[in-house]
Amino acid sequence: MYIAVFDIGGTSVKYGIATEKGDLLIEDAFPTNAQLGGETLVQTIIDKVKTLQRDWQLDGVAISSAGQIDNKTGIVVHATDTIPDYTGMNVVKRIGEAVALPVTVENDVNCTALGEHWNGAASDSDNFVCVTIGTGIGGALFAGGQLYTGSGFSAGEIGHMTLYPGGKACTCGDEGCLEKYSSSSALQEMLFEHLGVKMELRDFFDRLRDGDEDCVPLFNRWIDDLTTGLKSMVHMLNPGLIVIGGGISAQGDFLVNAIKASLQQKIMPNHGKNLDVRVAENGNQANLLGAVKHFLNERG
Ligand SMILES: [Zn+2]
Repeated sequence: MYIAVFDIGGTSVKYGIATEKGDLLIEDAFPTNAQLGGETLVQTIIDKVKTLQRDWQLDGVAISSAGQIDNKTGIVVHATDTIPDYTGMNVVKRIGEAVALPVTVENDVNCTALGEHWNGAASDSDNFVCVTIGTGIGGALFAGGQLYTGSGFSAGEIGHMTLYPGGKACTCGDEGCLEKYSSSSALQEMLFEHLGVKMELRDFFDRLRDGDEDCVPLFNRWIDDLTTGLKSMVHMLNPGLIVIGGGISAQGDFLVNAIKASLQQKIMPNHGKNLDVRVAENGNQANLLGAVKHFLNERG
């Protein structure tokens, strides 16, 4: 079985050909050009599928996408203005009719969780939370071996828990949300504010590992805010595992150990007993893998 798989992000669309075992046979990317809107984006994907069809006998198209997605009908329930006119679009119908193949679409953070559960950090866990830390903070909930998506395909918006009432304005329209303090972007903003330099997070973590006295207190504050958010989530859901995804997961054990140490001080003993924290194992392929798994669940 050959499945064309796409991961629609804010700046680029990763794509490839995958088998039903989740092996990626080819992989590439093109710019999202989000500002051109949902219609242009979908047409670019249709053109790409048609190009792939020249060389591959495709059995379907699996898509991971930013935004809140009705994973049954394929309708974008809600997307921010990053991709204009994307909200309300039926991606499955538009692409399916154009390429005459079965198509599925699922939210990108849900895809990270599906991919990690299928073959990754959560393959031995049926009750876990996946938290992706990047421009914002996303969340996906797995309960009893199944994704929990809520009544309107919007569960797991961990980034919009209130951390500081009346705090920084957020894209959701409220103020003081967790992601305004604990995302990768928030960390970079804080570094610029306090150190006066634009710093790559990779360089920041190198300095942390060397015990840099300017960087350590800033990191501790960022971790403290992050684990205050995670604490509420742990007390509410009692997960056995938190999988940390997003670019920052490249920091591996250093990040995991800092989260564990801070979180264990804040949670009630029984919630901490069976709780593990790990980074996602599939790197930037996690969403592609999860999109394939969602396709197999729905159409396989
Ligand atoms: Zn918010």
